[in-house]
Amino acid sequence: MENKKIILTGDRPTGALHLGHYVGSLKKRVQLQNTGEYKQFVMIADLQALTDNAENPEKIRNNILEVMLDYLAVGLEPEKTTFFVQSHIPALYELPMYYSNLVTMSRLERNPTIKNEIKMRNFERNLPVGFMTYPISQAADITAFKAKYVPVGEDQLPMLEQAREIVSAFNRIYKCDILVEPEAVLPDNENCNRLVGTDGNTKMSKSLGNCIYLKDSEKDIKQKVMSMFTDPLHINVSDPGHTENNPVFIYLDAFSTEEDFARFMPEYKDLAEMKEHYERGGLGDMKCKKLLNNIMQEFLRPIRERREQYEKDKSYLLEVLKKGTEEAIEVSNKTVSEIRNAIGINYFTDDSFIDKFVK
Ligand code: ATP
Ligand code: MG
Repeated sequence: MENKKIILTGDRPTGALHLGHYVGSLKKRVQLQNTGEYKQFVMIADLQALTDNAENPEKIRNNILEVMLDYLAVGLEPEKTTFFVQSHIPALYELPMYYSNLVTMSRLERNPTIKNEIKMRNFERNLPVGFMTYPISQAADITAFKAKYVPVGEDQLPMLEQAREIVSAFNRIYKCDILVEPEAVLPDNENCNRLVGTDGNTKMSKSLGNCIYLKDSEKDIKQKVMSMFTDPLHINVSDPGHTENNPVFIYLDAFSTEEDFARFMPEYKDLAEMKEHYERGGLGDMKCKKLLNNIMQEFLRPIRERREQYEKDKSYLLEVLKKGTEEAIEVSNKTVSEIRNAIGINYFTDDSFIDKFVK
């Protein structure tokens, strides 16, 4: 494939995308796309979304184009990145069948992200088999395209670990080097590995309702920033405050630049100076939130405006997705045929099978 390094990532179409997606993965995808050194696939993971929404497929249908809009709004470009839908790729049904024989139940049960997600969804005894095994399906998503790089937030590290184990087991057992061991590409800023929610919860997540969405209106953004969780011990302005674990400062860390300070809050040179003042006491939460609101508005306005532009041409979005899906089918089918050859289940096309058992 043009000898380029291959990237694969995706998102569940369970809602519009939010700041966590942006800093955790989308930002890196745009950067990598624009280097021109990679072949990038971006997948809308509708099959994975079904693993915990089987009874609510409408939710998934409603969000396919929403996610596409967010992709284009942040600067992913169909000329440079291939977008596709997971459910339309035959390889992604077939590979999990082979891989699931290489993974033990106890290995799946040890996956900390799965454990956490099961708890969050209160599945208890009603845990769908498909949900439990989605790490195997995710290994198929990555390996079907022979992706080496996977830009993701830190919650995905256990999934990549699992994928690497599958790759190494497959290549060892079937004596080949068809599959490529993938590695995560984490955000540059540590705070972005797992961006906290506006409520201070450890992760901004659609399922937790603590998100600032990329498509939020000016009014929504302001309302969300102004009611953000801060330091509960910082009651009076004069009290010393804590900046660690304080969402307002975590977001400032993730999004502010020195230019922002020059523009919106010239009394501080940079965030470090502002933090010092907050920790010493004498700096109110309101003032910090106002700064954050200004920065968020500046950051999200162009994204929202581009989104509104694309929203006028939904048939273009569908066309992009359809074309990308066709390309993805072709690329992944090649991997499937190599895999069938390696396992030796290629009876109708393999001369050595015919020589041995037919002639
Ligand atoms: P859901 O609640 O439906 O699982 P989600 O908000 O967790 O939705 P996903 O579609 O599961 O989003 O995640 C897609 C990608 O975005 C993954 O790479 C994930 O690591 C990244 N991501 C999601 N939320 C965050 C976050 N708060 N911080 C950093 N990265 C995130
Ligand atoms: Mg998730």
